[in-house]
Amino acid sequence: MSFESLGLCDELLTAVAARGYANPTPIQTQAIPVVFEGNDLLAGAQTGTGKTAAFALPIVQILSETVLPRKRRSPRALVLVPTRELAAQVSEQMQGYARRLSLRSTMIYGGVNIQAQIERLHRGVDIVVATPGRLLDHADRNTINLSKIEFLVLDEADRMLDLGFIDDIMHVVEYLPSQRQNLLFSATYSQSIKQLADELLDEPQQVEVARRNIAADAVTQTIYPVDRTRKREMLSHLIRKGDWNQVLVFARTRYGADKLTAELLFDGIKAAPIHSNKSQSIRTRTLAEFKRGELRVLVATDVAARGLDIERLPHVVNYDLPQVPEDYVHRIGRTGRAGEKGVAISLVCPAEQPLLFAIEKLLQYAIPQQTVAEFPQIAIKRGVKAKATKKSKGSSKPKKRPAKKKTPEKKSAKPVKTAAPAKTTNSRRGRGTPAPKTGRRGSRS
Ligand code: AMP
Repeated sequence: MSFESLGLCDELLTAVAARGYANPTPIQTQAIPVVFEGNDLLAGAQTGTGKTAAFALPIVQILSETVLPRKRRSPRALVLVPTRELAAQVSEQMQGYARRLSLRSTMIYGGVNIQAQIERLHRGVDIVVATPGRLLDHADRNTINLSKIEFLVLDEADRMLDLGFIDDIMHVVEYLPSQRQNLLFSATYSQSIKQLADELLDEPQQVEVARRNIAADAVTQTIYPVDRTRKREMLSHLIRKGDWNQVLVFARTRYGADKLTAELLFDGIKAAPIHSNKSQSIRTRTLAEFKRGELRVLVATDVAARGLDIERLPHVVNYDLPQVPEDYVHRIGRTGRAGEKGVAISLVCPAEQPLLFAIEKLLQYAIPQQTVAEFPQIAIKRGVKAKATKKSKGSSKPKKRPAKKKTPEKKSAKPVKTAAPAKTTNSRRGRGTPAPKTGRRGSRS
């Protein structure tokens, strides 16, 4: 399958070639035709699968088919993301594609001055990539008009629910027209994601590029049992001995991230923390330094790390195991991206046994364990003995249910195995309204 056979226009073919994408990834092969067909989409895609282009490319192409006056145009596509970092990453791609087709894309997130965003919105934009809270600020102040939205994308929807954005999402939806196309991307399928999909999507096509809740296959995972008091020493040892030059380390708390950074610096290892107590400009600068190879270690909390896209990141370390097992999957998804091999290491102390049990229950296999000769052996009890069956269950509890259903006639997702959508309905027609707006999906313009 090539990008050309997916029906992308010449400008976007040039854009993907310029990014070095030779062929579409599986999620792109499956999702792009669904979007072109005008169907709602429920996509199960791990981090690093190329999901951004899977929605950005067809949306940009479809929007470009309708020419609007240059000035003061209202956004027609809205991408909701959980964090500023993911907003920056998605927006960078979106802008790159949009520019080639004379469309404008902008990014909206909190923690920065709102005035510059208001001015950009006032000048007119076609696509908005936003975190829910700041977007609502704009909607409530009337500095954004969401009544012309044709596409709603929920990116990393599972993460948005984890971060408690459900009410904000449902509030945003109240500003949107009911006639729109909805795309929901999630790395994991919990019960709460199913409820959200049921709430927002209209007869969605379902595509999935990885087994549910299973960590990225391209990642070699290892556990190192270690006494809590010697974790930092072991980390420095592994970094030095393995000559690791670019390591993303996860700490549980912001305080922990700062403390570990100070200790690594003391050990002569260039490190910096990235978490939500840091200003956006410092976070952006730190990430840029890490990407340029000027920092050996980036110590991150889960919230800050979400959406970090660092090409060919070779090593991820769980200095602390995550409290939520799904976060383990997200964390190690930072390595082994887009066909590259990666290494994910977890330093596990006895007190973290229950967290390890929960992770292995989710993965349904035991993560291989190793010891480091220079450190005393520590016994860690294991919950799962061997690779288990394919059966998988979402483990997150449903979050608070939204107050009301917007469109009561919604139906459940129908799984599709291949790229070819099985039905011809066009959800952009609106709920129960006839006459598609455009019959040009997938056409080369
Ligand atoms: P995403 O899952 O959208 O965050 O993308 C993960 C990484 O894969 C990013 O570095 C993308 O630039 C890269 N990527 C996306 N699509 C392709 C493709 N078709 N071929 C190679 N790399 C890709």
